[in-house]
Amino acid sequence: MNIQFCGAAQTVTGSQLLITVNGKKILLECGLFQGRRQETYERNTTFLFKPEEVDALILSHAHIDHSGNIPNLVKQGFKGPIYATPATIELCKIMLRDSAFLQEKDLEWVNVIRRRQHLPALPPIYTIGDVERAMGLFEGVEFDTPFSPAPGVEVVLRDAGHILGSAGMHLDIQKLGAGGKPLRVGFTGDIGRPNLPLTNDPNVLRDLDILIMECTYGNRRHGDFDHVESELEAAIRDTASAGGKVIIPSFAVGRTQILVYVLHKLFNQNRLPDMPIYVDSPMACDATEIFRKFEHYLDRETKRVFINGLEDPFGFSRLTYIHDVDGSKRLNGQTFPHVIISGSGMAEGGRILHHLRNNVQNPKTLLLFVGYAAKDTLARKLMDGQKVVKIFGEDQQVRCKTKIIDAFSAHADRHELLDYVRLNDPAKLKHIFLFHGEVDQATSFKDALRSNGYMNVHFPQRGEAFNINQKGEIV
Ligand SMILES: [Zn+2]
Ligand SMILES: [Zn+2]
Repeated sequence: MNIQFCGAAQTVTGSQLLITVNGKKILLECGLFQGRRQETYERNTTFLFKPEEVDALILSHAHIDHSGNIPNLVKQGFKGPIYATPATIELCKIMLRDSAFLQEKDLEWVNVIRRRQHLPALPPIYTIGDVERAMGLFEGVEFDTPFSPAPGVEVVLRDAGHILGSAGMHLDIQKLGAGGKPLRVGFTGDIGRPNLPLTNDPNVLRDLDILIMECTYGNRRHGDFDHVESELEAAIRDTASAGGKVIIPSFAVGRTQILVYVLHKLFNQNRLPDMPIYVDSPMACDATEIFRKFEHYLDRETKRVFINGLEDPFGFSRLTYIHDVDGSKRLNGQTFPHVIISGSGMAEGGRILHHLRNNVQNPKTLLLFVGYAAKDTLARKLMDGQKVVKIFGEDQQVRCKTKIIDAFSAHADRHELLDYVRLNDPAKLKHIFLFHGEVDQATSFKDALRSNGYMNVHFPQRGEAFNINQKGEIV
């Protein structure tokens, strides 16, 4: 077997891993690389392999850094099946369509600059038409149900507990014509956190010869989720009693649903002041419908607290979902205390920008951050306490309050990643490959693995490839 790290190598986005076995090529994930515009465009339009030579694609989950380059793979000639859980397929429909829209919009800016430099305009990486063609190649596979994407390869998807439908992949690889035990390879995708609402605890890939694992937070400890309810309650109460609004920038898929779940629980326990709560995001509305459709994927806690009592975890009398633009605009005129949850999470686009422009000057407003924000994004600047920010090209004085609750993260932290690996005996696990992590996070995590007895740990660069024999040795 040959493994080539084609993306998310020494970085966190653009996950792509090519496996060649028995003369067939299987791609694990086809994520979009996200970074500065020009570099991003070049990286995403060029694959390290020929798309038409790939026989099958397996996708761990719907996040764009794992799925976002699939339409381009199809545009460039890939025609094979794309295996994913049914929930991932449904989420991909809305996320890839949105991604096509954003690509075209982003490129308008790039092309304005290129025109000034007398350079030809660039075409979008892919269009909505490519997304529709890609959606036609998806094949649903349930958790814990073996399937064979190529001769001699048997794959089982295990619940990764990261977002709805997210999976880790267990691959049993048998060399054709050779007997003996199969080579057991685990590919984690993104690993979730135990004890988070909605998602199950990660179903750990075990008894492996080779483990390929993410290490996004290999050097970080998250806050405990146990305190989230009381923190959120206190933040909302204090702001309401001062007559202010709570504005929460939030990712539409996953984070918004967890927030709504916690707010619903607080509401049922009479712990929220009497004020309306709005989810102002068409994408969050669509994603929530998918969560409802796949409620059987949700964890036992959600079923116990809501579903078994025939209660919708994502709806209660104080909560309104706003799909249309007029409804969103009407929120501006509301002077009484309320909560607005809106996207995008990093405040780089979407309706949140209007709410920020109208409210950051008000000392009574609380901006509440519940997710990761990359460097140079508006959310990051506000989180870092910048006093003046540009919104829609205009300087705005920031006089509102800000607060960060980081326990909402859907990625395992250092301790949780270590707990994951420890379920594999260091005497049996031959090699660990770290991917989907920055250098500082991976380096520290590698040391932690070594001190736990896992000696063969690699952190490959983009393009690096390894030949592995049936005993799990690098040859
Ligand atoms: Zn993810
Ligand atoms: Zn990811």
